[in-house]
Amino acid sequence: MDFTGKVAVVTGGANGIGRAVSLGFVERGAKVVIVDRDAAAGEALAAEIGKAAIFRAADVTRAADVAAYVKAAVDSFGAIDCFHNNAGIEGRVAPTAEYDEAVFDAVMGVNVKGVFLGLRHVLPVMIGQGRGAVVNTASIAGLVGTAGMPAYVASKHAVIGLTKVAAGEVGKLGIRVNAICPGPISTRMVQDIARQVSPNNPESVEETYASGIPLRRYGTAEEVANLVLFLCSDLASNITGAQYVVDGGRTAA
Ligand code: NAD
Repeated sequence: MDFTGKVAVVTGGANGIGRAVSLGFVERGAKVVIVDRDAAAGEALAAEIGKAAIFRAADVTRAADVAAYVKAAVDSFGAIDCFHNNAGIEGRVAPTAEYDEAVFDAVMGVNVKGVFLGLRHVLPVMIGQGRGAVVNTASIAGLVGTAGMPAYVASKHAVIGLTKVAAGEVGKLGIRVNAICPGPISTRMVQDIARQVSPNNPESVEETYASGIPLRRYGTAEEVANLVLFLCSDLASNITGAQYVVDGGRTAA
């Protein structure tokens, strides 16, 4: 996979999966625009990478912020070839019958509206170029339910819906749009969920959950990045409107 001369934009790019994707793009020759609301981590990553990267602080739920990071990408690097629409939050772990309305709105805001706004502002650039590849981060929670995570599960099912619609709209223009469905991946997010599920013994959550995964472990951010990079590359030239699991076999068995 060679991204020499390509420009990638990664939301949620300062930490976890997005950080691994940002580094993966740069290692393979791309310029990258790291977008995140975590300015400290984003600035540090951009400084670590050097001139192949810029950081733009943005809240993906705010249209003005999204328009600004898209403009920054085009002004700085001249195009957007690859877009990893990835920022997301987990919300609280609580049954539907007790779920907090404000938390529901917050999760839908980042995970659904944020992904929609990313598509809304990046696709016009790609349409103008007549090329581009988008990868939206869904989750295995976009394919199956998980007790205690109604907002997260609903939001990730919605990401798959947005992916299918956009793919159908822009395929004829040479633009591909796919979704990824990671299983549990060792990042801050799963640590937070584990603390919510078992405040006194969060380590036990991974042990229990991993025992139900055919590969018997959580994935790494780099393993997810490998799939994102593949879907953004020319090797995936006939793949669009699809969702790919990277879950150690969790949803298969
Ligand atoms: P993470 O918390 O390490 O990274 C998420 C990043 O998104 C952070 O840098 C955070 O600052 C940023 N972010 C959150 N809200 C934002 C907003 N409103 N505007 C801009 N940036 C914002 O978690 P991660 O595991 O790397 O998650 C990345 C994506 O992968 C998310 O969409 C998540 O739902 C998805 N995912 C994660 C797992 C997992 O097990 N870790 C599994 C499936 C899907």
